Amino acid sequence: MSKVGFIGLGIMGGPMAANLVAAGHEVTGYNRSQAKIDQLVAKGGKAASTVAEAVRDAEVIFTMLPDSPDVEAVVLGEDGVLAHAREGALLVDCSTIRPDVSRRVAEAAAEKGVRALDAPVSGGEPKAIDGTLSIMVGGEESTFAAARDVLGAVGTTVVHVGPAGAGQTVKAANQLIVAGNIGLLAEALVFLEAHGVDTEAGLKVLGGGLAGSTVLDAKGDKMRNREFGPGFRIELHHKDMGIVQAAAREAGLTIPLGALVGQLVAAANAQGDGKLDHSGLFRQIANLNGRD
Ligand code: NAD
Repeated sequence: MSKVGFIGLGIMGGPMAANLVAAGHEVTGYNRSQAKIDQLVAKGGKAASTVAEAVRDAEVIFTMLPDSPDVEAVVLGEDGVLAHAREGALLVDCSTIRPDVSRRVAEAAAEKGVRALDAPVSGGEPKAIDGTLSIMVGGEESTFAAARDVLGAVGTTVVHVGPAGAGQTVKAANQLIVAGNIGLLAEALVFLEAHGVDTEAGLKVLGGGLAGSTVLDAKGDKMRNREFGPGFRIELHHKDMGIVQAAAREAGLTIPLGALVGQLVAAANAQGDGKLDHSGLFRQIANLNGRD
């Protein structure tokens, strides 16, 4: 069992930290807002009032933060993780951020004798709660092996995909696929509604054939019932479409479908839907058709 420091106890980090506690690890949590720390303490974790306090004694440090600048501030900042982590500690960043930032974090960590992994996750809040996330890991093979046990407490599909940054590249592909799926599911639902089809029956049979998908299973009823509480916020998916676009450009690629759905996600964000679940992209597709 390990001493774990966990920073970022939000929609995903909160349940992940709780699952590490449930697996028998000693988890000390820190978050910007105190309420999230209190929730972890209620589940058997310990409270830290600074990043330093969370990481000082930790053998493994998890970060689960919104965006690249947050990870840069918390990990590389003056009073951040690397300023206080002990030599030999494992740093597992599960945030979805730019691959180049993950590579920079890994280099800075190595200079301090800290072994870093980028380990972004997929599966959303339900799988974070169940401990069944899919985790795409970039970093040294030996570091991956050392983190296998703690990652097994939060995920079931845990795959080493390459060197530092590779986890983020795979996650960017994940976000491209998910956004495209959500866009097409929304179009199909608007289409079925316009034709007066029983959408519950329609989605049920579609789900059993080649059109079936995890997105359809997880988001179909949310769209049918117009229940768009997060979940995964549109503003975060907008961030991720930016990561995908930049990484595609870097590789000299064109991603026409990704560009289109990226614009729809950007429109949703610009029109004030950023705090909705990404299934709320449905509203953009519906509005384009004069429907709601
Ligand atoms: P969230 O906003 O719910 O959680 C982030 C937490 O970090 C918040 O509690 C916030 O207070 C805390 N935080 C931010 N800056 C901090 C700082 N400087 N110091 C301490 N705490 C700080 O976001 P989330 O939905 O949990 O997503 C976290 C990451 O996981 C994002 O990169 C997101 O893209 C990714 N992700 C989210 C989902 C999902 O379904 N929500 C799924 C897969 C991946």
